[in-house]
Amino acid sequence: MFKILQKSFRVGTATADYPRLAPRVAEQFRGCPEFDFAAWSDARPAAEACPTGAIAIRDRDGARQVTVDYGRCIFCGECEAASTDGAVKMSRQFELAATARRDLVLTADYTLRPDGSHAGLKSATSGPAVEEPGMRIAEAIEDLLGRSLSIRQVDAGSCNGCEQEIVALNNPVHDIERFGIHFVASPRHADMLLVTGPVTRNMELALRKTWAATPEPKIVAAVGACGISGGIFGANYASLGGVDAVIPVDVYIPGCPPRPEALLHGILLALGQVRQRAGSPDSGRISSRAGKL
Ligand code: SF4
Ligand code: SF4
Repeated sequence: MFKILQKSFRVGTATADYPRLAPRVAEQFRGCPEFDFAAWSDARPAAEACPTGAIAIRDRDGARQVTVDYGRCIFCGECEAASTDGAVKMSRQFELAATARRDLVLTADYTLRPDGSHAGLKSATSGPAVEEPGMRIAEAIEDLLGRSLSIRQVDAGSCNGCEQEIVALNNPVHDIERFGIHFVASPRHADMLLVTGPVTRNMELALRKTWAATPEPKIVAAVGACGISGGIFGANYASLGGVDAVIPVDVYIPGCPPRPEALLHGILLALGQVRQRAGSPDSGRISSRAGKL
């Protein structure tokens, strides 16, 4: 007992003060790729190397449109390795959660040379529309969590990598309960579904029933590249792809897997959604969503 107390005093507070302070990230951590579209001389090597199809190119009439979908990206770094012009670099950015799927997609338009390389950049999106955790989120927590927020996690076919990070949310470092957020065993007690994995065909009915059993106003977060788009598995004979192929999704949390702070960032964004919906007179939207099942 004395040794435990001694250790507690020596270690002090282990819990990271995120999102108030910047996350503590290990030196070797790899976040999403960043693209210098103006300096990108040819997107084809990166697109060919990308294992999930997150980088797509479409050539038409001497022009090329390149799209980068962070909802498909597994942060593997193959695009950086394949691009010799230094225009693609892996970053340490991971707070990419978004409430609209389109906000995870970057687009760049190029004119082409006869050999298929880029002659010039015509237009490009500046970056993903990342919603930062900040005072607005902190206020949402305080306003909303006069009571706690209950989350039911649903594994719809994941490799369990995402679950490892979700479990870490409950450890002393991330301590999600300090926000009054906790995990529950039944969807009937949940405000939010945290869904991982591409939705396997065997799990489709279970996911639909879980969604139907969750009381309004409910929120759904699709976790990881698999939950957003099917990720490395995609849609195939056994998988339907992303969660929004089966039930409506309110928040998308990229990563493979998303680290605990990325999950927290997405969950905090979702809180804003819950607050809006709880106070919204737009109950018709909720009913129409339920009507899809
Ligand atoms: S880091 Fe993302 S975009 Fe780059 S190759 Fe890997 S999956 Fe594709
Ligand atoms: S996103 Fe990555 S870690 Fe998560 S279930 Fe898919 S493959 Fe596994």
